[in-house]
Amino acid sequence: MLDLASAHAEVADEIAAGWADILARTAFVGGPRVAAFETDYATWSGIRHCVGVGNGTDALELALRALGVRAGDECIMPANTFIATAEAVARAGATPVLVDCDEDTALIDVEAAAAAVTERTRVVLPVHLYGQTAAVEELRAVLPEGVAILEDAAQSQGARRHGVAAGKLGDIAGTSFYPGKNLGAYGDAGAVLTDRDDLAEAIRLLRDHGSPRKYEHSVLGFNSRLDALQAVVLSAKLRRLDDWNAARRAAAARYDELLSDVDGVVGPVVAEGNEPVWHLYVVRVAERARVLRELHESGIGAGIHYPVPVHRTEAFAHLGLGSGAFPVTERLADEIISLPMFPDITPAQQERVVSVLAAAVRR
Ligand SMILES: *Cc1c(COP(=O)(O)O)cnc(C)c1O
Repeated sequence: MLDLASAHAEVADEIAAGWADILARTAFVGGPRVAAFETDYATWSGIRHCVGVGNGTDALELALRALGVRAGDECIMPANTFIATAEAVARAGATPVLVDCDEDTALIDVEAAAAAVTERTRVVLPVHLYGQTAAVEELRAVLPEGVAILEDAAQSQGARRHGVAAGKLGDIAGTSFYPGKNLGAYGDAGAVLTDRDDLAEAIRLLRDHGSPRKYEHSVLGFNSRLDALQAVVLSAKLRRLDDWNAARRAAAARYDELLSDVDGVVGPVVAEGNEPVWHLYVVRVAERARVLRELHESGIGAGIHYPVPVHRTEAFAHLGLGSGAFPVTERLADEIISLPMFPDITPAQQERVVSVLAAAVRR
């Protein structure tokens, strides 16, 4: 599914040197390495501020809090996402209002989002799922003024929509550097991205005990900081990320080509204006359980992202949304398979994946 070892080999020496320096100085949290990464990431994405935090879920929660989300507020988000999007909303004290997704792209359905707006709606969270950017400008056009847009950019580092970087399309964005993401740390890490100075300032307070200066605490904060060891990893990998994303694009094009004459496999659809970074390459098949089993039996590490939509999880059963609430999301959850996808996947590996997949769907 994913080979992190070859990416590590490319950056191993740089990371070893950076870590040796940190160990010698014993400065583990914050400091110049973290600041350097924040500046590099902001410059690379063309966004004014990058504020490093502990993980992607915290990034989303702190962004919601910086936007002023409170108990009783409603936050509209797709049911078709990783659970963390909903966790962040619930942890900020608000209610996740789930909506269905588009059948082709699996991204938030803009009309459904518009229809879900009430007087309590405070934020909409489009999720740039699988590395493809949601239609943020279309959302903006249908949302009332005063409703903010928080992008869940955990799967979209380097993706663009009409030339603009994911994370710069809304008011603020949260991203994750979990090891398996396109830009992955060696542990948990995340960041909040925004062009707005006021929001960046609020995040800097919230991530560090609400503290503008040591032992001054102006707001109730959290402990969610990016540590220096992770910043070293992220800086080294960021320098290669454009190349790695290009390699993912080439691999996606090769899958498209190999699958073009395979009946029974529906490939991913890229929306107009999007340059995805192929965090995942997701296809749809009938008889998914059997097909996936055959892939696994042939030693192919395919996965499902995600098998259980948010409203069907036990954790969000209290939302009272049963089976049938979001037909597109539920259909996708039954049919999708994520094929192996990483920068160093070889043509031979992809040919083997497709030949096993083609044989399975023919049966
Ligand atoms: C990974 C991910 C997150 C959460 O990131 P963590 O760093 O694991 O907390 C949030 N949203 C989406 C869509 C993700 O893929």
